[in-house]
Amino acid sequence: MSELVQVHRYTFVALTGCCSIAASLSSTYPKVRLPQLLAAASVYLRIPTSSLSQKFLSCARNSRIGTCALLIALTLVASVFQLAAAEQEGAPQTSLAPELKPIAEELERWDAEAAWAGLKPLIAQQSTNVEVLQLAAETAFFRGEYEDALKLARSALQIAGEESRIKGFALLVESTLGIIKSYKRYETAHFVISLDEKQDGILLQYLTDTLERTYQLIGDRYGFRPREKVRVELFADTKAFYYASTLSARDIEVAGAVGLCKFNKLMFLSPRALVHGYRWLDAISHEYMHYMITKLTANKAPIWFHEGLAEHEETLWRDEPAQISSVHQTLLARALADGRLISFARMDPGLVKLETPEDVQLAYAESESAIDFIIEKHGHAALKEIMTEMTRTDEKGTGSAIKNVTGLNFEEFEAKWKEFLASKKFKEVEGIGVHRYRLKEGLTDDDRMEMREIKSMIARNRAHLGDLLQEKGRLDAAVVEYRRALKESRDSVPVLNRLSEALIKMEKLDDALEHLGRARQLAPDHPNTYASLGKIYLKRNNAKKAQEALDNVIQINPFIPDAHRDLAVAYEMLGRNESARSEREIFDRLNK
Ligand SMILES: [Zn+2]
Repeated sequence: MSELVQVHRYTFVALTGCCSIAASLSSTYPKVRLPQLLAAASVYLRIPTSSLSQKFLSCARNSRIGTCALLIALTLVASVFQLAAAEQEGAPQTSLAPELKPIAEELERWDAEAAWAGLKPLIAQQSTNVEVLQLAAETAFFRGEYEDALKLARSALQIAGEESRIKGFALLVESTLGIIKSYKRYETAHFVISLDEKQDGILLQYLTDTLERTYQLIGDRYGFRPREKVRVELFADTKAFYYASTLSARDIEVAGAVGLCKFNKLMFLSPRALVHGYRWLDAISHEYMHYMITKLTANKAPIWFHEGLAEHEETLWRDEPAQISSVHQTLLARALADGRLISFARMDPGLVKLETPEDVQLAYAESESAIDFIIEKHGHAALKEIMTEMTRTDEKGTGSAIKNVTGLNFEEFEAKWKEFLASKKFKEVEGIGVHRYRLKEGLTDDDRMEMREIKSMIARNRAHLGDLLQEKGRLDAAVVEYRRALKESRDSVPVLNRLSEALIKMEKLDDALEHLGRARQLAPDHPNTYASLGKIYLKRNNAKKAQEALDNVIQINPFIPDAHRDLAVAYEMLGRNESARSEREIFDRLNK
């Protein structure tokens, strides 16, 4: 288990048994010193939880089910200086100097530009004031000026001493800088994107298109158009992501945390780091929603509101209507039947307290459904109004904001929402389950790794034999083995996909389509299913449907070379020669 505690807007992750991670990290990123970071964090972790008052969120997606999970860590509202005082038994909390308070509040609601404008004269006048230096370092970090942030934090350290609480923050800045400075920086109309060009350069165009489209659509819908260019950092591997996000391996694998809106920027993990990728473009669109909600609510929105709205809008960019996924519908149907819905109060301050991935997913499903309820009954304008109302209240939660806009107090709102949920009559989908992410950890063969997911030993052996036969071109015999495997393990997506591949090679396209339909229903986010569908539609000269299927591959795992070649063929058939050329270039690049 790991424990997340956010200290003055920075989450530190205390891991038991983290030594191996620390060792491998320090060799990869010599500038980064996780042990020190954790040691610094452990000092913070002694802080009593009563001091914890503000939620903080990080986000997660579940690759096969097209849904997002969110982890919440706890935030300390007090500054590091207040905490330092509070730690001494019985000591009264000191507060920031009066002229710094409004600046700290600006930073609290992520208005880093306003905070910086207020700080600039103070830095010049009070260059040895630790409070000023610390706040300036944080503000610079929130503006993405990492070198300035590090300089300011070091200046503060020199005055306050190496053992001071600023140390942990300085290490976070140092590690972020160590990673980001090797990345390439691109500016689009409204975003600044940093990524590892060598590995993830092929993602840039898709990422830019998705972000800019999200910007336009969400701007039209909610009137949100940030003045500043939004920073987006795409991390090439889990180690870099751990460092910069302060998440743990458990957060990624158990809760599926692969995206994050934190420190006034969007961060996410390259789909290359996970077996079979994940819906990475939906994820970044989703994170943008968190950015919007944070800004429109002065960082006051509760978790359920954040997650529900981010989930609801995450597919808007690809013109996919908001729809609760089949996995989420299944979880909601079960929870309603068993009377074990998770209350919204239980979701704050953090979903990390929920025990299982299923509970975390249920919380997301409920949140999305509650947002659907507001939209269906009151419209998007009401959501916008609720966010505006949140900025006007000091009250915890959305109670008064919802009351002012809908006329319902929170109890009535929850009761009405439950009626709405029951009226949807969601049904369980047989054979469906919550998928857990798998980190590659240096392994490269997704299909071989996937074999481990086949539960029945007999099915696994049959499928393996089928693979060997298929490699030798003995397709008939391979199909026999796959069918036997399927008898043992009826809902196995890896087997359904393997069988379909062999059938496509044998031109048995109708048979393959039937199995792929089942695979898609069970795991709507498996890239191989869409890659096979693309091949079938190309064979049938249906370029439009082929393109749709292959777009899905790119949206989940853009590192499958053949998908780019097939997509190029589809574009050529559609007369889209420029797009075809671009896809061929990526195909060549991936095959180098
Ligand atoms: Zn989220």
